[in-house]
Amino acid sequence: MYDPYIDTTLNSNQPDIGSYWQAATQASPDYPALKRDIRCDTLVIGAGYTGLNCGYELAKKYQRDVVMVDALQPGWGCSGRNGGFVLRGTGRLGLAQLASRFGIDTARVFHQEYGAAISRVNQLIALGNIDCQPQAGGYYKLTHKSGMARTLRQQADFLNQNFDYPVQFFDKSQLLQQIVNHQQADAALYFPDCYGVNPLALVQGYAKMAVEAGVALFGQTPVTHFKRVSKGFEVITPQAVISARNLVLATNAYTARGLYPGINQSCLPVLSSVIVTEPLSTSQLLQLNWQQNSIIMDTRMLKYYYRLLPDNRILFGGRGAITGKAASDPVYPRRLLRALKHCFAGLENLTYQYQWSGWVGVSFDDLPRVCAVEPNLFYAAGYCGSGLSFSALAGERLAQLVAGETLPALPIYQSTLPAFPMSALRRQGQQMFYQWGRFKDRFL
Ligand SMILES: Cc1cc2nc3c(=O)[nH]c(=O)nc-3n(C[C@H](O)[C@H](O)[C@H](O)COP(=O)(O)OP(=O)(O)OC[C@H]3O[C@@H](n4cnc5c(N)ncnc54)[C@H](O)[C@@H]3O)c2cc1C
Repeated sequence: MYDPYIDTTLNSNQPDIGSYWQAATQASPDYPALKRDIRCDTLVIGAGYTGLNCGYELAKKYQRDVVMVDALQPGWGCSGRNGGFVLRGTGRLGLAQLASRFGIDTARVFHQEYGAAISRVNQLIALGNIDCQPQAGGYYKLTHKSGMARTLRQQADFLNQNFDYPVQFFDKSQLLQQIVNHQQADAALYFPDCYGVNPLALVQGYAKMAVEAGVALFGQTPVTHFKRVSKGFEVITPQAVISARNLVLATNAYTARGLYPGINQSCLPVLSSVIVTEPLSTSQLLQLNWQQNSIIMDTRMLKYYYRLLPDNRILFGGRGAITGKAASDPVYPRRLLRALKHCFAGLENLTYQYQWSGWVGVSFDDLPRVCAVEPNLFYAAGYCGSGLSFSALAGERLAQLVAGETLPALPIYQSTLPAFPMSALRRQGQQMFYQWGRFKDRFL
């Protein structure tokens, strides 16, 4: 599997992802490769949620002449293969952690921004009439061991009191009756404005909207390198050179080592893996008592996330291999299946039918950045595996930066991603983090 930590370029010839979403979604027509030299105001590299939202906004609101290229097709990166959890937030810090790091007033601005991100996704789905099968049952954060219930209750009080955010605490009997028949969890926190979608249908919808707004979108067009010239940038692809005044890097965790070290060295590509089971039988569903529309994540340091899909399969995700080379080792989906069976009784014979993984971009300080890194050069990256909703807003914020506007006063808009110290040893650090996480999740 392509490994951005090691590979210097991303080429267009990649193996099939094999995801459930590909099987469950009507394929959209391929966008052709760029085969002639071209000039534009702004080139966006990467057609995931971030790039597409940026291109859409630039073309629609600012009437800019926008070209967008992807090494494969829109959504080939994270955006077409994620779990489809529309969550309120990004990065790895909750509001309490943001408040202690930056103060309560700044944490409130983060909260507003995260709400704006969800609203933007909602608006785009409505505006583009995107058939991404929303499952609007909210998000439940479940304890993974006893003792965590008190922490969740404190979180509920903190969010209700300081953010006027109507999260709701569920004790064990409420959880079992009203959420799901879970074997490990003994409490839950309910976040009402979150929901599940088909992420591939969403990104295909965004691509259509961007093109309709005037973006010239090309697939199978990997950027191998770029250089600064007097009037902007000269960008090299296999069959064409693109001249652009502004350059937006929306390549996030899929940024190859050779494209722009400023992102690659500050954004550790980490694999997240997913399995999707066969459809559950009626008796399994009855025993499970899963409220169809809810999405779930647990309180582990190395989290599991899961949802019941509209066709009664379970999608179950978590940490994957460390290297691209090991990504296809069946040990990882088997481990997810085992973890799933620890959560729910009566599923002993359940198997998985789909499994895949993808790279998420983890930043050193657990927060993403949306920034101008050099004159006329912009990027958004480092969502730490939680970017479905935030990327839509990040794309809009990038467009505002390109247009010369000022963004809200938040740390994630005021600096670039901090480089990892000893960045060549990031994978060893990741290995140690996983060992510590396993120990903490089990014993502490
Ligand atoms: C398995 C998995 C599950 C996840 N689940 C969730 C979830 O449920 N909820 C959530 O909020 N987040 C989730 N995430 C994270 C979320 O999907 C990402 O944060 C989000 O999609 C990032 O979007 P993006 O547009 O920034 O990047 P991407 O979608 O990764 O897009 C980057 C694009 O850049 C292109 N590219 C890279 N290099 C080049 C080049 N040199 N030339 C041309 N094109 C290039 C790639 O082909 C790719 O399409 C998950 C991620 C994974 C992998």
